[in-house]
Amino acid sequence: MKESIFFKLVFALTIIFCSAFLCFCEDDESYARKREKMVRAQLKTRDITDKQVLEVMGKVPRHLFVSPHLRRQAYRDSPLPIDEGQTISQPYIVALMTQHLELKGGEKVLEIGTGSGYQAAVLAHLTDKVYSIEIRENLAKKAAETLSTLNYSQVQVKWSDGYFGWEEHAPFDAIIVTCAANHVPPPLLKQLKEGGRFIIPLGSTLYFQTLTLITKKKGKPKVKQILGVTFVPMVGEVQKKTGK
Ligand code: SAH
Repeated sequence: MKESIFFKLVFALTIIFCSAFLCFCEDDESYARKREKMVRAQLKTRDITDKQVLEVMGKVPRHLFVSPHLRRQAYRDSPLPIDEGQTISQPYIVALMTQHLELKGGEKVLEIGTGSGYQAAVLAHLTDKVYSIEIRENLAKKAAETLSTLNYSQVQVKWSDGYFGWEEHAPFDAIIVTCAANHVPPPLLKQLKEGGRFIIPLGSTLYFQTLTLITKKKGKPKVKQILGVTFVPMVGEVQKKTGK
């Protein structure tokens, strides 16, 4: 009698374990399908043409950078809320900004505004030195944890005001600012290498900005406007200065 209860229990536990495992695999597979669809429908149909960027966008598990209750929406054509009233950018904007950096591998990249860590993870597939600064302590901690759990050891996260850059690791081949500023922080421009690429949403931090690409040629910035965008504002030192 006791033996039969034991076997029933083992049988029930095996069924529960197998169903949970199957569910987990199915889930992973369904996210991979959503990611593939995102690349096809949101990136290839627009102006994302860089093969490597498309490949990376099809690899990084964006759903693991948002709260569990938002995972199913992670591959939508829109930004999503993360903690502290901040946002993870729309996949297209992440791909577009990354494409403009023209990374070939081996570059040193600085990101201002770590947020969830998703953009940093995308960059980490294209180069092995990514430095990311986040001004909100909790976000910096959480992003560092997520990146470490997913084995993105190429990314270093620092809790600090990104306005001042990361002098210790400067100069950078590329700089990407993922929060809106009304002027280019001079320390960042200074930390950009000659020939380097710098992308930043510039304009009114309350309303709209223009995604702006700056390249440094013979020490002077060359500016190109890319697209109208809306990012969460850069805070800290940038709000005290006008940049003039
Ligand atoms: N790149 C992020 C999204 C960024 S949202 C991702 O992939 O998820 C913009 C982030 O910039 C927010 O997390 C905000 O806290 C941060 N931020 C705002 N001002 C900043 C500053 N001065 N220095 C560093 N980070 C800043």
